[in-house]
Amino acid sequence: MISDDKLSARAHIAEKVVAKLAVHNLPATPENFSLFHYYFLGSVSGLSEAIDAHIAAGTLTLEQCREIFTHYIAAESDTSGLQAANVILERELTKIEAILRLALKGSGQFGKDLDTFSWQLASSDTLETLHGAVEKIANETRMILAQNGRLQNDLAETTEQLRDLRDSFDRAHKESLIDPLTEVGNRKFFNREIDRLLDECGDGKTSLSVLMIDIDHFKKFNDMHGHLVGDQVLRLVARTLVENLKGRDIVARYGGEEFVILLPHTVLRDAERVGGILRTNLANKRLRRRGSNDSLGAITISIGAAEYVFGESMDSLIGRADAALYKAKQTGRNKVMCAPPPTSSELE
Ligand code: GH3
Ligand code: MG
Ligand code: MG
Repeated sequence: MISDDKLSARAHIAEKVVAKLAVHNLPATPENFSLFHYYFLGSVSGLSEAIDAHIAAGTLTLEQCREIFTHYIAAESDTSGLQAANVILERELTKIEAILRLALKGSGQFGKDLDTFSWQLASSDTLETLHGAVEKIANETRMILAQNGRLQNDLAETTEQLRDLRDSFDRAHKESLIDPLTEVGNRKFFNREIDRLLDECGDGKTSLSVLMIDIDHFKKFNDMHGHLVGDQVLRLVARTLVENLKGRDIVARYGGEEFVILLPHTVLRDAERVGGILRTNLANKRLRRRGSNDSLGAITISIGAAEYVFGESMDSLIGRADAALYKAKQTGRNKVMCAPPPTSSELE
């Protein structure tokens, strides 16, 4: 009898195979199951490398899979001998297990038959017995497939479901990084992006600037016009920032009525200029109350700009941009102020 460990290892591989097929958009054919079974098993010399080479090149087509299958598996199956018998037997087992696990889900009798075949495999020492077992399994497979013509469809559907599942994971992940009100990135997104960009600056040659942005007198605005209008303003500010930035720039809502922008490959002087464009474009917009068309006046923002200095921490960089923003507020608002470089103690 084949051990539980061995069975669960096989089932684990079958799951990995199905996931891999879904990722590469490949149909769940028996050949593909076998191919990727060996891919994960690593027992056919050169096979995994051949697949990996296509993946690394950015494509893995059905045609390429067929070629690899013919080269590494089918050719081997043609040669007589114990190894070939084992290859076929393994292939059949994989196919059946995958079908069982994913389509039949707990079909009792066939599972028992599979155990018997596994036992024959383990206990037989003659080629004839092995060939017999292979023949039996092949017949059994054919019978099962004939009995239930929906199996292939079920497998295709399962692959489709796995793909949908992966897409919904991707979507949920993206949504967890977006601020629902303004639809720009949230604080978590910002933290991730600044980590990534600071890593890029690790070479000591890449520049990075930060703009901290805060809406002027927003409390007063909320008090006068209500929070719902205030929310519209937050959306308008976010939209204005996004519209005026390049694709590689990062915009996030830092909290409340504060936004933060990361400008990769940008020195302080250019960051100041970008800040100026954002500030004037927003100030030139005239807000009108929906329905009545009453003027709500202009919205202005104050901005603190800082350029990353090699060796400083993220906290130091944000702290300097914040201090510059504070200065912009203190000296009249609706302006961009630049942070001086960090002091030597800030660099420690
Ligand atoms: P300053 O020019 O100094 O920045 O003044 P301010 O009034 O903008 O600053 P303060 O920090 O005193 O007030 C921020 C206001 O932002 C208070 C809060 O009601 C408002 N605010 C924060 N988050 C939201 C939000 O999600 N929606 C709305 N409508 N208002 C918000
Ligand atoms: Mg504020
Ligand atoms: Mg404010």
